[in-house]
Amino acid sequence: MKCPRCSSTDTKVTDTRAVQDQISIRRRRKCNVCGHKFSTMEIYCRPELVVIKRDGAEEDFDDEKIIQGLQKAIKSDGTSGRKIEVIMQNILGNIREHFFQKIPSKEIGRIVMEELKRIDPIAYLRFASVCKNFHKTDEFEEEFKNLKQPDGTEV
Ligand SMILES: [Zn+2]
Repeated sequence: MKCPRCSSTDTKVTDTRAVQDQISIRRRRKCNVCGHKFSTMEIYCRPELVVIKRDGAEEDFDDEKIIQGLQKAIKSDGTSGRKIEVIMQNILGNIREHFFQKIPSKEIGRIVMEELKRIDPIAYLRFASVCKNFHKTDEFEEEFKNLKQPDGTEV
């Protein structure tokens, strides 16, 4: 981990503490070259979560499924990759903050819709019109799968 001030890699950890119910670790570091003090965070790459589906079945959380859904909902252009990146960051941050072991699939649907609405309202409206009924957001995976281009072709 480079020192943000002088870019030296000669740094040492001066303090380590767990935050957020032990799901992340914060470290205080000090640069041995310029003396600059800074902090780093260590967190899971993705939530270690079990998803509870509408029928009660459980499966491992898979962020790839959400990414695939977003790729279908968001119009592919020069900015879509970056948009998906931002939306995924927000979604994973939101999930980490509120869910620790289990998450109902409808909550994932709600969070995905919320972020989509904020970052890409057009994709959100398109998605919402496919869903028709907002109470059905727990079926978002199915709806994502069935999503078609406005002209009726498969995405
Ligand atoms: Zn330094």
